[in-house]
Amino acid sequence: MATDYYAVLGVSRDAGQDEIKKAFRRLARELHPDVNPDPKTQERFKEINAAYEVLSDPQKKQVYDLGGDPISGGGGGAGAGFGAAGFGNFSDIMDAFFGTASQRGPRSRTRRGQDAMIRLDVELDEAAFGTTKDIQVDTAVVCNTCNGEGAAPGTSAQTCDMCRGRGEVSQVTRSFLGQVMTSRPCPQCQGFGTVVPTPCHECAGDGRVRSRRTLTVKIPAGVDNGTRIQLAGEGEVGPGGGPAGDLYVEIHEVPHPVFQRRGDDLHCTVTIPMTAAALGTQCPLETLDGMEEVDIRPGTQSGQSIPLHQRGIKHLRGGGRGDLIVHVEVQTPGKLDAQQEDLLRQLATLRGEERPAGHFQPGQQGLFSRLKDAFNGR
Ligand SMILES: [Zn+2]
Ligand SMILES: [Zn+2]
Repeated sequence: MATDYYAVLGVSRDAGQDEIKKAFRRLARELHPDVNPDPKTQERFKEINAAYEVLSDPQKKQVYDLGGDPISGGGGGAGAGFGAAGFGNFSDIMDAFFGTASQRGPRSRTRRGQDAMIRLDVELDEAAFGTTKDIQVDTAVVCNTCNGEGAAPGTSAQTCDMCRGRGEVSQVTRSFLGQVMTSRPCPQCQGFGTVVPTPCHECAGDGRVRSRRTLTVKIPAGVDNGTRIQLAGEGEVGPGGGPAGDLYVEIHEVPHPVFQRRGDDLHCTVTIPMTAAALGTQCPLETLDGMEEVDIRPGTQSGQSIPLHQRGIKHLRGGGRGDLIVHVEVQTPGKLDAQQEDLLRQLATLRGEERPAGHFQPGQQGLFSRLKDAFNGR
């Protein structure tokens, strides 16, 4: 499964360039390795870079939207080397990052939480008509003991005495160029400007704890394998009681024993004896809407398809439904007894078919190619 770049940036699939850029800048500020050095965050920083590189480039975006996998030039080492060739969003990163860096001061303990994703099995009829399902999610929630502050009840965070709340410490060194002043994040408070002398025992000062809860998810009609439903604010709560990320529910459609889905159409094959194909018949079929008779007209050929209109999957957007397409396979009788063979020979004589020459055509006209044509909408 390829990464969903839209989900990575937390924007919808129809987001415009401005919205994509804004989302990227917000995340880049939050997740930049210099701000936030823990390895998990750096991993996420690389992800948002890769996502932005594709979505901000109209050509790559188009390839990606069509299901392709555009090779992202600087994706792998995005967090590490700004100088790398092919790193398209260099100026955006600098903008995003230095926009904050120039605002000196302690950084907030409060940060937005991570997005979370959960996979959900959905039966074909549920995908066709929509449903609601309860799911169990296990995410970080605000710690009730300290209300997300991270300090044990009755205590509070104190101004850091090393940096006096500035979040950074400066050092003046003499070099042959003169005096050089360098600043770095305060080692005592990690740049927060405050220290928590007595961390909350429940959450060890993180301000959040893990919890399992049940959510009811509305699955709209027309979802497909890989469709992601975004539940805003149902992801992980951020450190320090920060706002929650989003939860994405990824649909996994359980294969149906009879129907194969192509887009919003369903396909199946019915096998009938040669006599029924010649004389016509009706075959009962359990569709998603209940039992229906499939009308096989006299003279039906092998490979012919019979559409049952509006018996497929509801369209996710707009009204209407796909079709259910029944492909007919005609079975030629084998092992004839004497009487049957005699009857067939009489029939052949009546039809002048004792020694048919056969009708040759170019290419492959069999069942398989007709199926392919039907799938390709030809
Ligand atoms: Zn706590
Ligand atoms: Zn400090």
